[in-house]
Amino acid sequence: MSAPFKLAPLPWEPSALEPVISAKTIGFHYGKHHQAYVDTLNKLVEGKSYADMKLEQVIRATVHAQGADKKIFNNAAQVWNHDFYWRSLTPDKTEPSGKLSSAIARDFGETANLIAKLAEAGKEQFGSGWAWLVSKDGVLAVEKTGNAMNPMADGVNCLLTIDVWEHAYYLDYQNARPKYLEAVLEKLLNWEFAAQNLEKEGHAVRAAAE
Ligand code: MN
Repeated sequence: MSAPFKLAPLPWEPSALEPVISAKTIGFHYGKHHQAYVDTLNKLVEGKSYADMKLEQVIRATVHAQGADKKIFNNAAQVWNHDFYWRSLTPDKTEPSGKLSSAIARDFGETANLIAKLAEAGKEQFGSGWAWLVSKDGVLAVEKTGNAMNPMADGVNCLLTIDVWEHAYYLDYQNARPKYLEAVLEKLLNWEFAAQNLEKEGHAVRAAAE
């Protein structure tokens, strides 16, 4: 079987996020859940044109699909979402800087207000899903999506995400999703990754205008 889609390496050691997220959680979440989405996607695209596309293209081509292609969307989006989630977290304390810092001040007043909105979105997402910081038409916003859905599928620039599926926190926090959110938001958010994603959008907008 050809396997065009790969499990990207983690950006840190599995124990690096302790005590907020345990190595045991990362072991299952990355080694079992994320790996299973990659393996299932590779099986589903075998012999199809999707096998020759980039992951983002597969996601955008199948986002509104039904039937067999809906399964491709679910697995492709979950591969992308998890890769984005790992890069949204870091054990090295970061703070918003530069253009990101100004955009947060403009759209939320203070970083604490943005963090409160992310916590609320993660808490209120009913069932499995994701909380996101996005940049939409030049304005920062917080969104939540259910199951595998992500804002990128509809062309929105994602800056950060937090996984609120139970497998992301149950081993460490059991049913206390708000406690997981509070700890991750306070201690692990990778603001440098968010700043890089915002910067990329500036380049894309300038390239389109030239
Ligand atoms: Mn997950």
